[in-house]
Amino acid sequence: MILAQLPRFHLSILARPSFSLSSSHFNFLNPKPPVTVARNLFSFASKSNLATVEPIPLPVSDSSDLDDAPVEISLDKLFIPPETDVSGDDSASLTARILKGSNIVLSKYARDAQVVQADYVKSSVKTEDCPADGLPEFALVGRSNVGKSSLLNSLVRRKRLALTSKKPGKTQCINHFRINDKWYLVDLPGYGYASAPHELKQDWNKFTKDYFLNRSTLVSVFLLVDASIPVKQIDLDYASWLGQNQVPMTMIFTKCDKRKKKKNGGKRPEENIKEFQDLIQGFFETTPPWIMTSSVTNQGRDEILLHMAQLRNYWLKH
Ligand code: GDP
Repeated sequence: MILAQLPRFHLSILARPSFSLSSSHFNFLNPKPPVTVARNLFSFASKSNLATVEPIPLPVSDSSDLDDAPVEISLDKLFIPPETDVSGDDSASLTARILKGSNIVLSKYARDAQVVQADYVKSSVKTEDCPADGLPEFALVGRSNVGKSSLLNSLVRRKRLALTSKKPGKTQCINHFRINDKWYLVDLPGYGYASAPHELKQDWNKFTKDYFLNRSTLVSVFLLVDASIPVKQIDLDYASWLGQNQVPMTMIFTKCDKRKKKKNGGKRPEENIKEFQDLIQGFFETTPPWIMTSSVTNQGRDEILLHMAQLRNYWLKH
């Protein structure tokens, strides 16, 4: 199965955890021409090679919180997709290939990212009941209230599509949405409902884990983590389970527009993100790809779609 072949990636923020390019660096829907294939993908990676990344543009009211110094991410902490060679890039050209607000380098597979059509297909209670047409899929999962429905709606640019998953009887299901008739977005049950009965929690756990382990068309899990609040143990547990079971995972940090100190325990989203990554580092051979998002500002929307496109196109080719 191809997914096991996707490299896993470490992230280490050497300065402070603010990692984004200004939009002038890169046109998301027109990525650069394909890069050359590297024989040894990671042979060049060393901590002395740094990509310099500009800070994320902040809302005016909060900009006083940050200085504008560039941030450096070590090369071996970037997500460099398979068949992608960055060894010939200097710091500036590599920086231009990193998706804004992420550690993800674009590959030649980043194409056909736009969502033209999105249709709800079905809700399943077992992995065996999921669509059997073999199309690649991405599963969104996260703590209840993390912003999963908002993100799903934002990705497909439909205000209420994800409401389907919130209808009574569907919240505990594996909900499939077909995109452009070519791939699926899958909405999985949220975890961490304080009020859910113990047996129900166990049951959801069982079937989502079964889905993660046995769904052969699952390209990557997208684990949503709220970046506006301090790190939660339950999210760490989830990430560590995925890591230990070698389930490919991308971390989606949500609510990155929420920058008011009083609401997030005095920490900015970037600080919560760094803390989360530091804490899960030990569970992964290399740190997974991650993207900062906001469903309010649509930050990260195009970046997620490009990342999905490159994972998907690679998966389809192999
Ligand atoms: P779900 O339970 O994971 O599906 O979460 P929802 O999408 O229903 O969102 C939960 C709450 O968080 C709602 O009040 C949303 O308006 C809010 N929310 C979701 N995404 C964002 C975001 O990116 N920024 C902010 N500020 N609020 C958000």
